[in-house]
Amino acid sequence: MAKPKLAVWKFASCDGCQLSILDLEDELLALAETVEIAYFLEASSKTVAGPYDLSLVEGSITTPHDAERIQDVRRQSHKLVTIGACATAGGIQALRNFADVKEFTKAVYARPDYIKTLETSTPIEDHVTVDFNLRGCPVDKKQLLEVVSAMTFGRKPMIAADSVCGE
Ligand code: SF4
Repeated sequence: MAKPKLAVWKFASCDGCQLSILDLEDELLALAETVEIAYFLEASSKTVAGPYDLSLVEGSITTPHDAERIQDVRRQSHKLVTIGACATAGGIQALRNFADVKEFTKAVYARPDYIKTLETSTPIEDHVTVDFNLRGCPVDKKQLLEVVSAMTFGRKPMIAADSVCGE
């Protein structure tokens, strides 16, 4: 029987939640025996085309390209789980939501007219249906394993609703 296909996607983020996956080491090897890690650019440039049984999404939506890409990720994903505060709440980059983003780009870039960005940084759930939000900054490794295991095998993750980090 074919293994469930797992994909990991990055949007605007610091990569810390993806590093939590890589940091699983032994558990990751065990996981690789039960699921096919089909798309995870942080770990390997070798990719397998979708559709995917489970997509983990790190990061927030901050550019017009992001806004289009997340629709494509959703179309390819049977289940979609957000990982970390950037994806679940917009992240630190959502501070721009309370200021004029044009002033920021003018202050930072020599050619701000080359920068294509949205006025806001928004959570993934503002754009597509999300099957589960895993909160944390970064996410807790044990909770991440529980979510991947539960979602790929069709059960509800056993994570307390008010829990952010399990340790
Ligand atoms: Fe980095 Fe925190 Fe965002 Fe995860 S939630 S990508 S650790 S800033």
